[in-house]
Amino acid sequence: MNKLAIKGGKPLKDTKTNPWPQWPVWDENEEKALLEVLHSGVWSYNGPKEAEFNKKFAEFTGVKYAISAANGTATLQLALEACGIGIGDEVIIPGLTWQATAATIIDVNATPVMVDVCEDTWCIDPKEIEKAITPRTKAIIPVHLYGSFCDMDEISRIAKKNNLFIIEDCAHKHGGEWNGKKAGSIGDIGSFSFQLSKHLTAGEGGVLTTNSFELAERLDALRNCGRRPEGLSENVDKGAGLYSDEGYFIQSGNYRITEFQAAILVEGLKRLPTQNQIRDENGMYLNSLLKQLPGVSPMKRDKRETKEAYFNFAFRYNKDEFKGLPVEKFREALTVEIGIQVSASYEPLNKCSLYAPLTKQARHKLNDTYWAEIDPTRFDLPVCNRIFVEESVCIHHKILLATKAEMDLIAEAIKKIYTNYL
Ligand SMILES: *Cc1c(COP(=O)(O)O)cnc(C)c1O
Repeated sequence: MNKLAIKGGKPLKDTKTNPWPQWPVWDENEEKALLEVLHSGVWSYNGPKEAEFNKKFAEFTGVKYAISAANGTATLQLALEACGIGIGDEVIIPGLTWQATAATIIDVNATPVMVDVCEDTWCIDPKEIEKAITPRTKAIIPVHLYGSFCDMDEISRIAKKNNLFIIEDCAHKHGGEWNGKKAGSIGDIGSFSFQLSKHLTAGEGGVLTTNSFELAERLDALRNCGRRPEGLSENVDKGAGLYSDEGYFIQSGNYRITEFQAAILVEGLKRLPTQNQIRDENGMYLNSLLKQLPGVSPMKRDKRETKEAYFNFAFRYNKDEFKGLPVEKFREALTVEIGIQVSASYEPLNKCSLYAPLTKQARHKLNDTYWAEIDPTRFDLPVCNRIFVEESVCIHHKILLATKAEMDLIAEAIKKIYTNYL
C-alpha cells in the first residue's frame, strides 16, 4: 500500500479516473468569439477585439493604458525601447527568471546586470539592486516569480532615489496585488505574456501597461511599425503627442497581436478573477499543509501581497531533513505519485542553456568591452544557484484549480515519499 509509485507501487492519484483540471480553459464563448472574428474578415490590425481587450485589461489592472503585442518577449523589448534604453546602458535584473528578461536587453544593445534573489521569495533582492547601481544604470526589471511578488516598496524607493525606470515583468502575475495595487500598475511599465503556459493565455500574446501617456504613445507606435498611434484611449490628450499629425515618428517593426488572440483574451479575462481566487485559496491551504511537513517549506508570502496570482505553485525542499534524498529524486517520485510533471525552477542566467548572448556576435558586434560585460559567467548568483540545484519544486498552476481534497493528496504524497523512500 505504501510502496512508492516510483518503485512500482500504486500512485496516490489515479489521473485516469480523476484527472487534474485541464489547461487551457475554454468553452463555447471562445468558439463564438473566434467565429465572429473569422467571419468579420478583420483578422488583425487595431481591430475591435484588440481595442476591447486593451480597454478591459487596463481597467482590470488599474492603469490608464494597455497595449497588446505579439508576445511577452516583444513587450519587454518594446518597453526597454520606449524608455530610451540602448548602447551603454545597464539594466538590473534578477538572476532567476526566464531568459527573455535578459535576452531582450541584449536585443536593444544594452547590458543586463544580474543580481541575486531573496531565498524565501525567489524574487530580486533589493539590497543586491542597490549594490549593483552604477552611473550607467537606467532601469530595473523586477520579475514577480511563480507565486511571489517583488518588494515593490523597496524597489520603488531605490528607483526614485536613483532616477531609474521600473519595468515590471508580470509574465507570472496577471491579477496579483501588492498593497491593493495590481502587478503592472506599480512600475513605469508592466509587461505581460499570454503564452500557453501562463495563467491568462491566447496560445501566444502579450500586453504592456502604463499610466504614462508619453510611454503609451511610444509603445503603441513601437508595436506597429512606428506608426502614429490611433485611439490609444478616450482620455488621450491629443495636444500632448510626440508625433506630428501625419506619418511615422519612430522606427520599429511589426509586433502586433491578432484579432483571434484578442478574442480569446477577452473571454479568458472574464474568468481570470474567479480562477485567481480559487488558486489563491488553494495555494494558501496547500501552503498551510506544507508548513506542517518535514523537509519542505512554503514560499514566504509578504503581508503586503493582498492577492496572489500563480504561474507555478512553488515550494522549497530541504534534503537534509529528507535523509539526504536529492531534490531530483524527490521531484521524480512526486511526479509519479501525483501524475503531473514536477519541475525545477528556471536555470540561473549565469548558467542557463537558453541564454547564450555571446552567440549573437554577428548581430551586435559592438566592441570587446561589451562582450566582456554581457558574459553571463561573470555574475555570481549563489542563492539562485542553490534554489535551482537543491531546493526548487515547481508544479503547473492548473493543480490549484482542483479541489481541497487534491491539495490534501499532494501533501499526503510528500509525506509518503518522506516515510517510504529511504
Ligand atoms: C513567459 C515569460 C516571458 C516571455 O513571454 P513570451 O510570451 O513567452 O515571449 C518573459 N518573462 C517571463 C518571466 C516569462 O515567464
